[in-house]
Amino acid sequence: MPEVYNSGERRGSVGGVVRVYDFRLYTTRSQNAALARTCWLLRQLYNGCIQERREAWTKQRVSVTKRVQDAQVKAIRAHDPEYAAVHFHLLKDAISRADLAFKGFFRRCKAGQTPGYPRFKGRGQYESFTFTDAANRRGAILCAGGSRLRIHGIGNVKIKLHREHEGKLKQIRILRRGDGHWYAQLVCADVPAKLLSTTGREVGVDVGIKSFAVTSIDGDYPIRNPRYHEAAQARLAVAQQKVSGRKKKSKRRRKAQRSVARLHLKVARQRRHFQHVTALQLVKENDFICVEDLNIKGLAQGFLSKQVYDAGWGQFIDILVYKAESAGRELVKVNPRGTSQACSACGVIVPKDLSVRVHACPDCGYTADRDVNAAKNILRLGQSLREARRLAA
Ligand SMILES: [Zn+2]
Repeated sequence: MPEVYNSGERRGSVGGVVRVYDFRLYTTRSQNAALARTCWLLRQLYNGCIQERREAWTKQRVSVTKRVQDAQVKAIRAHDPEYAAVHFHLLKDAISRADLAFKGFFRRCKAGQTPGYPRFKGRGQYESFTFTDAANRRGAILCAGGSRLRIHGIGNVKIKLHREHEGKLKQIRILRRGDGHWYAQLVCADVPAKLLSTTGREVGVDVGIKSFAVTSIDGDYPIRNPRYHEAAQARLAVAQQKVSGRKKKSKRRRKAQRSVARLHLKVARQRRHFQHVTALQLVKENDFICVEDLNIKGLAQGFLSKQVYDAGWGQFIDILVYKAESAGRELVKVNPRGTSQACSACGVIVPKDLSVRVHACPDCGYTADRDVNAAKNILRLGQSLREARRLAA
Protein backbone atom coordinates (compact mmCIF):
# COMPACT_ATOMS: atom_id res chain seq x y z
CA MET A 1 0.00 0.00 0.00
CA PRO A 2 1.38 3.39 -0.89
CA GLU A 3 1.67 5.61 2.10
CA VAL A 4 -0.68 8.55 2.29
CA TYR A 5 1.36 11.69 2.11
CA ASN A 6 0.00 14.53 4.15
CA SER A 7 -1.17 17.33 1.92
CA GLY A 8 0.70 19.79 4.11
CA GLU A 9 -2.17 22.06 4.91
CA ARG A 10 -5.67 21.87 6.11
CA ARG A 11 -8.36 24.14 7.32
CA GLY A 12 -8.98 24.63 10.99
CA SER A 13 -12.39 23.83 12.35
CA VAL A 14 -12.37 26.85 14.64
CA GLY A 15 -11.25 29.91 12.70
CA GLY A 16 -7.77 30.75 11.53
CA VAL A 17 -5.78 28.65 9.14
CA VAL A 18 -4.30 25.45 10.51
CA ARG A 19 -1.10 24.43 8.85
CA VAL A 20 1.11 21.39 9.09
CA TYR A 21 4.82 21.97 8.64
CA ASP A 22 6.88 18.97 7.75
CA PHE A 23 10.51 18.62 8.82
CA ARG A 24 13.04 15.86 8.44
CA LEU A 25 14.67 14.43 11.57
CA TYR A 26 18.26 13.25 11.54
CA THR A 27 18.38 10.48 14.08
CA THR A 28 21.34 8.63 15.50
CA ARG A 29 21.31 4.86 15.40
CA SER A 30 20.15 4.60 19.02
CA GLN A 31 17.49 7.30 18.57
CA ASN A 32 16.25 5.40 15.56
CA ALA A 33 15.92 2.26 17.64
CA ALA A 34 14.24 4.15 20.49
CA LEU A 35 11.67 5.71 18.15
CA ALA A 36 10.94 2.34 16.59
CA ARG A 37 10.63 0.82 20.07
CA THR A 38 8.16 3.51 21.10
CA CYS A 39 6.05 2.74 18.04
CA TRP A 40 6.27 -0.95 18.85
CA LEU A 41 5.06 -0.40 22.41
CA LEU A 42 2.22 1.79 21.20
CA ARG A 43 1.27 -0.78 18.60
CA GLN A 44 1.12 -3.48 21.29
CA LEU A 45 -1.08 -1.22 23.39
CA TYR A 46 -3.32 -0.50 20.42
CA ASN A 47 -3.65 -4.20 19.63
CA GLY A 48 -4.30 -4.91 23.30
CA CYS A 49 -7.16 -2.43 23.29
CA ILE A 50 -8.70 -4.12 20.28
CA GLN A 51 -8.27 -7.56 21.80
CA GLU A 52 -9.77 -6.54 25.12
CA ARG A 53 -12.86 -5.17 23.45
CA ARG A 54 -13.22 -8.17 21.22
CA GLU A 55 -12.89 -10.71 24.05
CA ALA A 56 -15.16 -8.80 26.40
CA TRP A 57 -17.81 -8.83 23.75
CA THR A 58 -17.50 -12.44 22.54
CA LYS A 59 -17.17 -13.94 26.02
CA GLN A 60 -19.35 -11.74 28.18
CA ARG A 61 -21.28 -9.47 25.80
CA VAL A 62 -19.76 -6.48 27.51
CA SER A 63 -18.62 -3.34 25.67
CA VAL A 64 -15.38 -1.86 26.89
CA THR A 65 -15.26 1.90 26.56
CA LYS A 66 -12.37 4.27 26.02
CA ARG A 67 -12.83 5.52 29.57
CA VAL A 68 -12.34 2.04 30.98
CA GLN A 69 -9.20 1.57 28.92
CA ASP A 70 -7.85 5.01 29.78
CA ALA A 71 -8.18 4.13 33.45
CA GLN A 72 -5.85 1.16 32.98
CA VAL A 73 -2.92 3.28 31.83
CA LYS A 74 -1.76 3.89 35.37
CA ALA A 75 -1.62 0.18 36.16
CA ILE A 76 0.18 -0.61 32.93
CA ARG A 77 2.84 1.99 33.69
CA ALA A 78 3.25 0.78 37.26
CA HIS A 79 3.74 -2.75 35.96
CA ASP A 80 6.02 -2.18 33.01
CA PRO A 81 8.97 0.22 33.22
CA GLU A 82 9.11 0.45 29.42
CA TYR A 83 5.60 1.85 29.32
CA ALA A 84 6.40 4.10 32.24
CA ALA A 85 9.12 5.67 30.09
CA VAL A 86 6.70 6.44 27.24
CA HIS A 87 4.98 9.80 27.49
CA PHE A 88 1.51 9.58 28.99
CA HIS A 89 -0.08 11.43 26.05
CA LEU A 90 1.21 8.86 23.57
CA LEU A 91 -0.45 6.02 25.47
CA LYS A 92 -3.69 8.00 25.51
CA ASP A 93 -3.25 8.62 21.80
CA ALA A 94 -2.96 4.88 21.08
CA ILE A 95 -6.13 4.17 23.07
CA SER A 96 -7.94 6.95 21.22
CA ARG A 97 -6.89 5.48 17.90
CA ALA A 98 -8.33 2.09 18.86
CA ASP A 99 -11.48 3.85 19.99
CA LEU A 100 -11.73 5.65 16.65
CA ALA A 101 -11.38 2.35 14.82
CA PHE A 102 -14.38 1.01 16.73
CA LYS A 103 -16.37 4.21 16.31
CA GLY A 104 -15.86 4.00 12.55
CA PHE A 105 -16.84 0.35 12.59
CA PHE A 106 -20.09 0.97 14.48
CA ARG A 107 -20.92 4.02 12.38
CA ARG A 108 -20.62 1.99 9.19
CA CYS A 109 -22.67 -0.85 10.72
CA LYS A 110 -25.39 1.63 11.57
CA ALA A 111 -25.32 2.99 8.04
CA GLY A 112 -26.17 -0.50 6.81
CA GLN A 113 -22.70 -1.31 5.44
CA THR A 114 -20.73 -4.42 6.30
CA PRO A 115 -17.37 -3.09 7.46
CA GLY A 116 -14.47 -5.28 8.57
CA TYR A 117 -14.01 -5.65 12.31
CA PRO A 118 -11.14 -3.46 13.63
CA ARG A 119 -7.93 -5.36 13.07
CA PHE A 120 -4.61 -5.68 14.79
CA LYS A 121 -1.88 -3.54 13.38
CA GLY A 122 1.10 -5.47 12.09
CA ARG A 123 4.71 -4.49 11.59
CA GLY A 124 4.95 -1.26 9.64
CA GLN A 125 1.34 -0.28 10.28
CA TYR A 126 1.92 1.85 13.33
CA GLU A 127 4.66 4.29 12.46
CA SER A 128 3.64 7.53 14.08
CA PHE A 129 2.67 9.12 17.34
CA THR A 130 1.39 12.53 18.33
CA PHE A 131 2.15 14.80 21.23
CA THR A 132 -1.26 16.38 21.54
CA ASP A 133 -0.25 19.13 23.94
CA ALA A 134 2.93 20.48 22.40
CA ALA A 135 1.40 23.92 22.87
CA ASN A 136 2.27 23.59 26.55
CA ARG A 137 5.65 22.08 25.75
CA ARG A 138 4.59 18.63 26.82
CA GLY A 139 6.34 15.68 25.24
CA ALA A 140 8.29 17.43 22.53
CA ILE A 141 10.08 20.77 22.58
CA LEU A 142 12.16 22.59 19.99
CA CYS A 143 15.44 23.55 21.57
CA ALA A 144 19.04 24.60 20.84
CA GLY A 145 17.82 27.46 18.67
CA GLY A 146 15.59 25.18 16.64
CA SER A 147 18.33 22.74 15.69
CA ARG A 148 17.12 19.99 18.03
CA LEU A 149 13.78 18.49 18.93
CA ARG A 150 13.70 17.17 22.46
CA ILE A 151 11.43 14.14 22.41
CA HIS A 152 10.36 12.61 25.69
CA GLY A 153 12.13 9.31 26.26
CA ILE A 154 14.20 9.65 23.07
CA GLY A 155 16.50 12.59 23.65
CA ASN A 156 17.56 15.57 21.56
CA VAL A 157 17.05 14.69 17.93
CA LYS A 158 18.62 16.77 15.20
CA ILE A 159 16.00 18.58 13.16
CA LYS A 160 16.38 20.76 10.11
CA LEU A 161 13.89 23.62 10.10
CA HIS A 162 14.31 24.35 6.43
CA ARG A 163 11.57 26.97 6.56
CA GLU A 164 9.81 29.28 9.00
CA HIS A 165 6.75 28.03 10.76
CA GLU A 166 4.10 30.54 11.72
CA GLY A 167 1.09 30.62 14.00
CA LYS A 168 0.66 28.90 17.34
CA LEU A 169 2.25 25.49 17.72
CA LYS A 170 -0.44 23.04 18.84
CA GLN A 171 0.76 19.49 18.27
CA ILE A 172 3.89 17.65 17.22
CA ARG A 173 3.59 14.45 15.29
CA ILE A 174 6.54 12.10 14.84
CA LEU A 175 6.37 9.66 11.95
CA ARG A 176 8.42 7.36 9.79
CA ARG A 177 7.83 7.35 6.04
CA GLY A 178 8.42 4.67 3.45
CA ASP A 179 11.96 5.92 2.85
CA GLY A 180 12.81 4.79 6.39
CA HIS A 181 13.47 8.34 7.63
CA TRP A 182 11.79 9.98 10.58
CA TYR A 183 9.93 13.26 10.26
CA ALA A 184 8.35 15.76 12.62
CA GLN A 185 5.15 17.55 11.73
CA LEU A 186 4.44 20.78 13.54
CA VAL A 187 0.72 21.46 13.59
CA CYS A 188 0.20 25.21 13.92
CA ALA A 189 -3.06 27.10 14.33
CA ASP A 190 -4.00 30.72 13.68
CA VAL A 191 -1.47 31.05 10.90
CA PRO A 192 -1.77 34.66 9.72
CA ALA A 193 -3.16 35.20 6.23
CA LYS A 194 -1.04 36.95 3.63
CA LEU A 195 -3.50 38.90 1.54
CA LEU A 196 -2.82 39.32 -2.17
CA SER A 197 -3.83 42.39 -4.13
CA THR A 198 -6.90 42.07 -6.32
CA THR A 199 -6.58 41.20 -10.00
CA GLY A 200 -10.19 41.61 -11.13
CA ARG A 201 -10.21 38.09 -12.53
CA GLU A 202 -12.68 35.34 -11.74
CA VAL A 203 -12.26 31.74 -12.79
CA GLY A 204 -14.08 28.43 -12.95
CA VAL A 205 -12.01 25.25 -12.81
CA ASP A 206 -13.07 21.92 -14.25
CA VAL A 207 -10.97 18.92 -13.32
CA GLY A 208 -10.78 16.25 -15.96
CA ILE A 209 -9.14 13.13 -17.23
CA LYS A 210 -7.55 14.38 -20.42
CA SER A 211 -5.93 17.34 -18.76
CA PHE A 212 -5.54 17.84 -15.05
CA ALA A 213 -7.78 20.90 -15.06
CA VAL A 214 -9.26 23.40 -17.48
CA THR A 215 -10.15 26.97 -16.63
CA SER A 216 -13.03 29.08 -17.90
CA ILE A 217 -10.70 31.75 -19.26
CA ASP A 218 -10.48 31.61 -23.05
CA GLY A 219 -6.99 31.21 -24.36
CA ASP A 220 -5.67 29.75 -21.11
CA TYR A 221 -3.86 26.52 -21.69
CA PRO A 222 -5.35 23.47 -20.05
CA ILE A 223 -3.27 22.38 -17.09
CA ARG A 224 -1.66 19.17 -18.25
CA ASN A 225 -1.97 16.03 -16.21
CA PRO A 226 1.49 14.84 -15.23
CA ARG A 227 0.46 11.23 -14.31
CA TYR A 228 3.47 10.54 -12.16
CA HIS A 229 2.16 7.16 -11.11
CA GLU A 230 1.92 5.97 -14.69
CA ALA A 231 5.42 7.20 -15.41
CA ALA A 232 6.79 5.30 -12.43
CA GLN A 233 4.81 2.16 -13.26
CA ALA A 234 7.64 0.31 -14.99
CA ARG A 235 10.10 0.93 -12.19
CA LEU A 236 7.45 0.05 -9.63
CA ALA A 237 6.77 -3.24 -11.39
CA VAL A 238 10.46 -4.16 -11.33
CA ALA A 239 10.78 -3.25 -7.67
CA GLN A 240 7.60 -5.14 -6.81
CA GLN A 241 8.88 -8.20 -8.63
CA LYS A 242 12.03 -8.11 -6.55
CA VAL A 243 9.89 -8.25 -3.42
CA SER A 244 7.89 -11.25 -4.55
CA GLY A 245 11.04 -13.09 -5.58
CA ARG A 246 12.50 -12.91 -2.12
CA LYS A 247 11.84 -15.15 0.81
CA LYS A 248 9.08 -14.05 3.15
CA LYS A 249 10.13 -12.34 6.36
CA SER A 250 13.72 -12.18 5.11
CA LYS A 251 15.90 -9.14 5.50
CA ARG A 252 16.40 -8.92 1.75
CA ARG A 253 12.67 -8.90 1.18
CA ARG A 254 12.20 -6.09 3.66
CA LYS A 255 14.93 -4.17 1.88
CA ALA A 256 13.16 -4.63 -1.45
CA GLN A 257 9.90 -3.53 0.15
CA ARG A 258 11.58 -0.36 1.27
CA SER A 259 12.60 0.50 -2.27
CA VAL A 260 8.97 0.02 -3.39
CA ALA A 261 7.89 2.35 -0.60
CA ARG A 262 10.52 4.88 -1.64
CA LEU A 263 9.16 4.91 -5.19
CA HIS A 264 5.62 5.45 -3.93
CA LEU A 265 6.85 8.25 -1.72
CA LYS A 266 8.56 9.89 -4.66
CA VAL A 267 5.37 9.76 -6.73
CA ALA A 268 3.40 11.27 -3.86
CA ARG A 269 5.91 14.07 -3.47
CA GLN A 270 5.97 14.88 -7.18
CA ARG A 271 2.19 14.99 -7.25
CA ARG A 272 2.00 17.19 -4.20
CA HIS A 273 4.56 19.60 -5.60
CA PHE A 274 2.67 19.90 -8.86
CA GLN A 275 -0.58 20.55 -7.01
CA HIS A 276 0.99 23.28 -4.89
CA VAL A 277 2.43 25.07 -7.91
CA THR A 278 -0.85 24.82 -9.82
CA ALA A 279 -2.97 25.98 -6.89
CA LEU A 280 -0.64 28.88 -6.17
CA GLN A 281 -0.89 30.12 -9.74
CA LEU A 282 -4.69 30.00 -9.71
CA VAL A 283 -4.82 31.85 -6.40
CA LYS A 284 -2.33 34.50 -7.51
CA GLU A 285 -4.14 35.25 -10.75
CA ASN A 286 -7.76 35.22 -9.59
CA ASP A 287 -9.88 36.95 -6.95
CA PHE A 288 -12.71 34.47 -7.15
CA ILE A 289 -12.35 30.74 -7.80
CA CYS A 290 -15.10 28.20 -8.45
CA VAL A 291 -14.45 24.47 -8.38
CA GLU A 292 -16.53 21.34 -8.51
CA ASP A 293 -17.59 19.76 -5.29
CA LEU A 294 -16.06 16.34 -5.89
CA ASN A 295 -17.95 14.77 -3.02
CA ILE A 296 -21.08 15.13 -5.06
CA LYS A 297 -19.55 13.66 -8.16
CA GLY A 298 -18.47 10.42 -6.48
CA LEU A 299 -16.25 9.63 -9.45
CA ALA A 300 -13.70 7.68 -7.49
CA GLN A 301 -15.97 4.66 -7.17
CA GLY A 302 -16.47 4.29 -10.87
CA PHE A 303 -14.42 2.97 -13.75
CA LEU A 304 -12.18 6.03 -13.73
CA SER A 305 -10.90 5.38 -10.24
CA LYS A 306 -7.28 4.75 -11.17
CA GLN A 307 -6.84 8.02 -13.04
CA VAL A 308 -8.77 9.79 -10.33
CA TYR A 309 -6.37 8.46 -7.76
CA ASP A 310 -3.37 9.45 -9.81
CA ALA A 311 -4.60 12.96 -10.41
CA GLY A 312 -5.41 13.36 -6.73
CA TRP A 313 -8.06 16.02 -7.29
CA GLY A 314 -9.38 15.81 -3.77
CA GLN A 315 -5.98 16.67 -2.38
CA PHE A 316 -5.57 19.40 -4.99
CA ILE A 317 -8.84 21.06 -4.01
CA ASP A 318 -7.87 20.88 -0.33
CA ILE A 319 -4.65 22.71 -1.15
CA LEU A 320 -6.53 25.22 -3.30
CA VAL A 321 -9.03 25.90 -0.51
CA TYR A 322 -6.28 26.51 1.98
CA LYS A 323 -4.22 28.73 -0.32
CA ALA A 324 -7.27 30.78 -1.30
CA GLU A 325 -8.16 31.25 2.34
CA SER A 326 -4.74 32.38 3.44
CA ALA A 327 -4.50 34.80 0.51
CA GLY A 328 -7.91 36.30 1.22
CA ARG A 329 -9.43 34.94 -2.01
CA GLU A 330 -12.99 33.75 -2.25
CA LEU A 331 -13.53 30.13 -3.26
CA VAL A 332 -16.87 28.45 -3.92
CA LYS A 333 -17.58 24.77 -4.48
CA VAL A 334 -20.50 24.01 -6.76
CA ASN A 335 -22.50 20.92 -7.63
CA PRO A 336 -20.97 19.78 -10.92
CA ARG A 337 -24.12 18.04 -12.11
CA GLY A 338 -25.00 19.01 -15.65
CA THR A 339 -22.09 21.40 -16.06
CA SER A 340 -20.71 19.47 -19.02
CA GLN A 341 -24.11 19.25 -20.74
CA ALA A 342 -25.44 22.79 -20.49
CA CYS A 343 -24.40 25.46 -22.98
CA SER A 344 -22.49 28.17 -21.15
CA ALA A 345 -23.62 30.79 -23.67
CA CYS A 346 -27.37 30.25 -23.73
CA GLY A 347 -28.17 27.62 -21.10
CA VAL A 348 -29.69 25.02 -23.41
CA ILE A 349 -28.93 21.39 -22.55
CA VAL A 350 -26.74 19.76 -25.20
CA PRO A 351 -26.50 16.05 -24.32
CA LYS A 352 -23.16 14.39 -25.03
CA ASP A 353 -21.35 11.38 -23.65
CA LEU A 354 -17.73 11.35 -22.43
CA SER A 355 -16.28 10.64 -25.88
CA VAL A 356 -17.58 13.92 -27.33
CA ARG A 357 -14.78 16.41 -26.68
CA VAL A 358 -16.33 19.49 -28.28
CA HIS A 359 -19.37 21.40 -27.15
CA ALA A 360 -21.30 22.71 -30.16
CA CYS A 361 -24.60 24.35 -29.36
CA PRO A 362 -27.28 23.87 -32.03
CA ASP A 363 -29.32 26.70 -30.50
CA CYS A 364 -26.92 29.64 -30.32
CA GLY A 365 -24.01 28.26 -32.31
CA TYR A 366 -21.50 28.57 -29.43
CA THR A 367 -18.64 26.14 -29.92
CA ALA A 368 -15.91 25.39 -27.37
CA ASP A 369 -13.81 22.64 -25.90
CA ARG A 370 -16.01 20.45 -23.77
CA ASP A 371 -14.08 21.16 -20.57
CA VAL A 372 -13.82 24.91 -21.18
CA ASN A 373 -17.61 25.00 -21.56
CA ALA A 374 -17.95 23.07 -18.30
CA ALA A 375 -15.53 25.42 -16.53
CA LYS A 376 -17.61 28.41 -17.68
CA ASN A 377 -20.74 26.77 -16.27
CA ILE A 378 -18.93 26.16 -13.00
CA LEU A 379 -17.95 29.83 -12.82
CA ARG A 380 -21.53 30.91 -13.54
CA LEU A 381 -22.90 28.59 -10.83
CA GLY A 382 -20.35 29.90 -8.37
CA GLN A 383 -21.22 33.51 -9.17
CA SER A 384 -24.94 32.94 -8.65
CA LEU A 385 -24.19 31.10 -5.40
CA ARG A 386 -22.17 34.09 -4.27
CA GLU A 387 -25.04 36.44 -5.15
CA ALA A 388 -27.50 34.28 -3.23
CA ARG A 389 -25.20 34.33 -0.19
CA ARG A 390 -24.83 38.10 -0.36
CA LEU A 391 -28.59 38.56 -0.53
CA ALA A 392 -29.09 36.21 2.41
CA ALA A 393 -26.48 38.00 4.53
ZN1 LIG B 1 -26.04 27.72 -26.70
